[in-house]
Amino acid sequence: MVHSFVYEALPARVIFATLSAALLTEEMARIGMKRPIVLATPLQEPQAREIAAMLDEKSVGVFAGAVMHTPVEITEKALSIVREAKADGVVAIGGGSTTGLSKAIALRTDLPQLVIPTTYAGSEMTPILGETANGVKRTQTTRKVLPETVIYDVELTLGLPPALSAASGLNAIAHAVEAMYARDRNPIVSMMAEEGIRSLFAALPLIVKKPSDLAARSDALYGAWLCGVCLGSVGMALHHKLCHTLGGTFNLPHAETHAIVLPHALAYNTSTVSDIVERLARALGTGVPASKIYQLSNELGIGGGLRTLGMPEDGIDQAADLAIMSPYWNPRPIERDAVRELIARAWAGEPPRP
Ligand code: NAD
Repeated sequence: MVHSFVYEALPARVIFATLSAALLTEEMARIGMKRPIVLATPLQEPQAREIAAMLDEKSVGVFAGAVMHTPVEITEKALSIVREAKADGVVAIGGGSTTGLSKAIALRTDLPQLVIPTTYAGSEMTPILGETANGVKRTQTTRKVLPETVIYDVELTLGLPPALSAASGLNAIAHAVEAMYARDRNPIVSMMAEEGIRSLFAALPLIVKKPSDLAARSDALYGAWLCGVCLGSVGMALHHKLCHTLGGTFNLPHAETHAIVLPHALAYNTSTVSDIVERLARALGTGVPASKIYQLSNELGIGGGLRTLGMPEDGIDQAADLAIMSPYWNPRPIERDAVRELIARAWAGEPPRP
């Protein structure tokens, strides 16, 4: 085989360690941050307050108003505190919603970011920001939003409920699956994708059985990091486009939508990208990859289909129409009837097409 590819690494400092005042201070100094604002969702305000306490007098305070889809009104609220208090950096603790707010602030201020992820969504490793203004979500890619430093502390993920852990883990696996067949795929990202999937595939059932299993949690976080790198490094395809459309049109929860759609999107593409089947078999074990992922999601309790998330049945046709409206790259051409069947199966919670 003659190799032909482009590989470009994104700059980011990644640390797997227990968070402490000493580590935070050292890492903040490295990126020139003396008085950061600490961000979280309302639910994770206690964790943000613990971080502010670790920083003693060094933080300008906590803003615990992050929500899904990064609405610009919330960003404006946080920005007014940043400007008034003359914060010189952002420390964000939480999942994709909090990281989104951190990125939105960085986009407008160029302030450095230190992100402490507590889900498996992977946003901390990407130069991608999705923001919502007047009900419309717009996504952009710019290195301005890439966090400078990311600290993964497994202890901080122990409170992630088992059901959300499972869905979030499958959301991460989806990044890696699509990275394997991306138009701009390359051997390094494919290796990361395989290792990320292997790690999460083994860890998620253990976490659902015993959410305090530190070794499994650590493997999942490690896998999530690798899958996040995949998302940030190469282009995504049908699966991510569909989830974006379904989530935005029917207001469905992010991670759960990814978890349900993934086996179906993979089945849609498998015949065209048979070269990834061998790689996926190394990560998932032998068998049809889409079926293995469907079995995993059932084992993790995510078997109900999009209807259980509140998507109406008459939305299936609407979603199929939207999926073919704006053209995008996918290894297999986007065919309306086949995409409609994919969505209908995902809606009903049926197994992926053989
Ligand atoms: P989330 O950040 O919305 O978190 C879901 C809920 O779980 C929140 O209430 C949060 O506070 C809580 N939570 C998170 N970690 C917890 C923990 N350890 N213990 C207890 N509760 C915890 O969910 P998400 O799936 O991580 O992120 C979804 C958002 O991120 C979406 O808006 C999505 O579009 C975005 N996203 C963006 C990118 C990107 O690259 N730009 C990538 C992935 C996701």
